[in-house]
Amino acid sequence: MDFSITDKQKKLQKAAREYSLKWLLPTVHKYDDLGITPVHVIVEAWKAGLMNLPIPKKYGGNEYGLLEEALIVEEMSAAAPGMATTINGNNLGLEPLIMCGNEQLKEEICTDLIKNFGIICFATSEPNMGSDVGGMICKAEQDGEEWILNGKKYWITNAGFAKYASVFANADPKSRHKGIGAFLIRMDKESVEVGRHIEKMGHRCSNTTVLKFNNYRVPKEDILELPGKGFSLAIKTFSRTRPIIGAMATGLARSAMEYAIHYVKKRRAFGKNLAEFQALQFLLAECYQKVETARLMTWRSCWDADTGKDPLLWASMTKLYAAEIAMDVASDALQCFGGYGYTKMQPIEKLFRDAKLYQIYEGTSHIQKIIISRHVLGTYDPVMPPLEDVPFAPVDEDYDDKLEYFDDIKKSKGAKKAWRCRICGHIHYGDEPPEECPVCKFPKGVFKEVWSR
Ligand SMILES: Cc1cc2nc3c(=O)[nH]c(=O)nc-3n(C[C@H](O)[C@H](O)[C@H](O)COP(=O)(O)OP(=O)(O)OC[C@H]3O[C@@H](n4cnc5c(N)ncnc54)[C@H](O)[C@@H]3O)c2cc1C
Repeated sequence: MDFSITDKQKKLQKAAREYSLKWLLPTVHKYDDLGITPVHVIVEAWKAGLMNLPIPKKYGGNEYGLLEEALIVEEMSAAAPGMATTINGNNLGLEPLIMCGNEQLKEEICTDLIKNFGIICFATSEPNMGSDVGGMICKAEQDGEEWILNGKKYWITNAGFAKYASVFANADPKSRHKGIGAFLIRMDKESVEVGRHIEKMGHRCSNTTVLKFNNYRVPKEDILELPGKGFSLAIKTFSRTRPIIGAMATGLARSAMEYAIHYVKKRRAFGKNLAEFQALQFLLAECYQKVETARLMTWRSCWDADTGKDPLLWASMTKLYAAEIAMDVASDALQCFGGYGYTKMQPIEKLFRDAKLYQIYEGTSHIQKIIISRHVLGTYDPVMPPLEDVPFAPVDEDYDDKLEYFDDIKKSKGAKKAWRCRICGHIHYGDEPPEECPVCKFPKGVFKEVWSR
């Protein structure tokens, strides 16, 4: 096992940090106040090779793995979570394209996004559904080899200035996820309408809008997946993008903690620096532990994806944990600032507002828990035998009983078989179970063989 990153990865992390401190940090508060996306700042990320990270080498990209993405995105998010959402939006929009089998389309779009600055967004959510992806009703109707889209997509990050969109629509809403297909949309077509930017509490410099399709014709060349295969493509996409939300949440939490560390070392109360109060020392110790754990989980889920394992489960655990701790750490860090934390005089209130989104987009925390609990109660492979097979003999408080218990163990050394009473846990050693349990008096049938020698 090796938790270190390579020199190449360190270089990439450094480049992302330099970009973030030079371009994102100095501009983010102004654009957050204005609630607009500074496109010129995003263009700089593209120029620095920090966008479109998964584009394969054969199309001119760097074909970065998820770990490289996580390293880059943590740095961006630490400086400006909303702009990190904007920049990372292309990675989200690109995943369905890169994973689909339409080679010609991949080549065209990927090559274009490498040569020219451009935005590709991702759309599953609709006005009446977000968590329930299978319940989408934006309609895809077949017309010969073409598909005609009608309906709305809601909350679409970057749709306001995107050139392309990876859009999921349903050919048969009654059959839910079985009817979902995926299509590459060219946003300059007249049959695409983009709504007004939605004002938000956080991530205010990421653009969020409604998308409407009025008889949008998708030629067969622009199909990502035919209806029937789109749902699985969306889920595979989330499995790869949720670890990256983990990296974003880690970056935000890291900054919140660092600002608080700085503040408590300077601010004085009761004749001391705040840093000398154990209550705040413990608070920051917990923040640090949470940030480091979130990063470990992020790297673990990236490792799953990068080594060809199915990242679904770890992606959900990572997103859930990192989103929750980002909220906790932002809140605890703000607490260290006292009243100043609650004002726009310090950067911490913005991080507090920004943190909430991680618990919502790309599957809410509830949805991650649904995925994890399905595993825990379904596919999880336990090491322990079923409860009723556990060779467990309760020891009574009574000393005599204890002696009897130890006698039992002595006796058991010669025994070939052991039988456990399913009612009270009494263990009987011998070739056959007793006619009656000597403790709870239930008949022979309650005994189950638990081991044999
Ligand atoms: C700023 C922003 C940017 C976004 N960007 C995009 C984007 O680029 N592309 C895109 O497609 N979408 C995007 N989204 C949409 C986002 O993915 C959804 O908002 C999210 O999935 C939740 O869906 P919803 O808002 O419809 O909430 P709902 O699904 O209505 O859920 C409401 C509440 O009910 C809970 N809930 C729902 N079902 C269950 C259940 N079965 N068990 C327990 N609790 C449940 C949810 O957890 C949530 O707390 C964005 C959203 C925001 C706010």
